[in-house]
Amino acid sequence: MKIKYINYGTGNRVGDTLYLYKELKKYPHLHEAVLLHEKRHTGRFSMFDFKLDIRNNELSKVKNDWSKFIITHPRTWINYLPIVKLGGQWTIDISLSIIWIAFAIMFYIAWTII
Ligand SMILES: [Zn+2]
Repeated sequence: MKIKYINYGTGNRVGDTLYLYKELKKYPHLHEAVLLHEKRHTGRFSMFDFKLDIRNNELSKVKNDWSKFIITHPRTWINYLPIVKLGGQWTIDISLSIIWIAFAIMFYIAWTII
């Protein structure tokens, strides 16, 4: 498994390559949690991966520090977009796509009810 450090995002796994945000190296406990989480992913999409992202047990152990890290590092926000460029290729995050579509449907329903 290869690890590549990039200038944005938090962490992603594509096949056998992990893409981690380089600033994580300054926070070893957060780096370890993200690394553990990404290593558990299958490298392709499955229900296991979706459940892994919903539960996110690895990061819930460092929740407060993780939240501070996300707020103080705006380049991590890119990771919450359903489509991101990794290793020179555009990559679709299926878990995030499902979550974004679910939110869009909820907002649409709420908007039409009001
Ligand atoms: Zn994940």
